Amino acid sequence: MLVIYPGSFDPFTLGHEDIVKRASSSFDEVMLAVSEDNAKSSLFSVSERLEMAKIIAEKYINVSFATYQGLTVDFAKANNTNFILRGLRDTSDFDSEAQNALMNKTMNNSIETIFLISSKNVREISSTNVRQILSLNGDVSNFMSDQIISYIKSLKI
Ligand code: ADP
Repeated sequence: MLVIYPGSFDPFTLGHEDIVKRASSSFDEVMLAVSEDNAKSSLFSVSERLEMAKIIAEKYINVSFATYQGLTVDFAKANNTNFILRGLRDTSDFDSEAQNALMNKTMNNSIETIFLISSKNVREISSTNVRQILSLNGDVSNFMSDQIISYIKSLKI
């Protein structure tokens, strides 16, 4: 069973990595799907976010990575799977994720969204806050892995 883990991953945090790690040991295959249609204004380009997904995916034998445009349900179908994976941190995630999952199901009834509850040690981490800390030259070492931090530093040279 392949699950698509879609997101903007702007940037990839330890919260996302926690979901990837647990998914890789729970499902046959996981695909990190970097959305090109990002409603939020992104700090990192699509190619930079794809490179981060690649850095994460290379740690696991059954994790792949891709970018996509358009609807996640269409991307899932194009990859012959009905399964979309999302992470849940709190009730506000629940409200928006439940709405997304129900609307996706209305668009394609065979799609199932699977949720993993965030691990305790990373549930406060959000890409939005990480972007803000990065823009203020703050320390993000508690929120992102060393490999991702090194990659981001390499972009600034
Ligand atoms: P989007 O812009 O589509 O919401 P994100 O890149 O912000 O995508 O997040 C992708 C997925 O990862 C979402 O399901 C989100 O809830 C989840 N996620 C983000 N941060 C965490 C975290 N700290 N712990 C668990 N899941 C998380």
